[in-house]
Amino acid sequence: MVVSTSSAGTSGSMADTQKAIGPIVLLGPPGAGKGTQAKRIAEHYGVPQVSTGDILRANVASGTELGKKAKAIMESGNLVPDELLFGMVAERVKQPDAARGYILDGFPRTLAQAEWLDKFLQNQQDAPLPPVVADIQVSYNELLGRLTGRRTCPTCGRIYNVHLSPPKVDELCDVDGSKLVTRKDDEESVIAERLKAYERQTAPLTGYYQSSGRLHVLDGSRPIDEVTAQAFKVLEQARKK
Ligand code: AMP
Repeated sequence: MVVSTSSAGTSGSMADTQKAIGPIVLLGPPGAGKGTQAKRIAEHYGVPQVSTGDILRANVASGTELGKKAKAIMESGNLVPDELLFGMVAERVKQPDAARGYILDGFPRTLAQAEWLDKFLQNQQDAPLPPVVADIQVSYNELLGRLTGRRTCPTCGRIYNVHLSPPKVDELCDVDGSKLVTRKDDEESVIAERLKAYERQTAPLTGYYQSSGRLHVLDGSRPIDEVTAQAFKVLEQARKK
């Protein structure tokens, strides 16, 4: 199994990069900005971003057993079965770089995954902090515009949007000049499927976390820096308690 890590964005102070922040869960539909915000929070606190989508894509790219099982499901816009995710997430968050905390981006995505995560955390030896859950909310029409415009650099992973944050030269990465690509699952027919999967399987998670008083809402329609500021505020307040 391939376990990828990545982080970029705003750097935190020495104090921020030394404190224990525990697990942070970012919820929100595809296109809400989870990946972008996860990178920024991860960089600020000096903890890893754990994106199940990125780890799965790395496994598909290198043709592991897990990747072979996940490939067609991912390309159809559906969710990979929970059983394939649990071992992968457990292995990643036990790595030494996640000892002070980590940002879960794209996990949990089903009620069963959320329940598994709670149990997994409770069973860890040195009782970690409970997860802080932030839901990035964005309207359906805005999501469609964002997803159809998304382009990724296959070399450095930088994300652009042809409508909202285009590269300086059409379709080429500002950093390394690579030709930008559209993720297979960002093609229009697949987007509709992914948004349906979200409504059906992931939206109920907000109820699960709300009923236990753990849900914090971020307004994902605001500019990127403002959403990051909202996230930092939520985290600081939640970890003060
Ligand atoms: P993402 O990059 O988070 O949009 O994920 C891309 C695809 O990977 C999803 O459409 C799913 O097929 C799969 N995937 C990622 N995370 C999960 C998860 N927690 N549960 C099930 N499937 C997932």
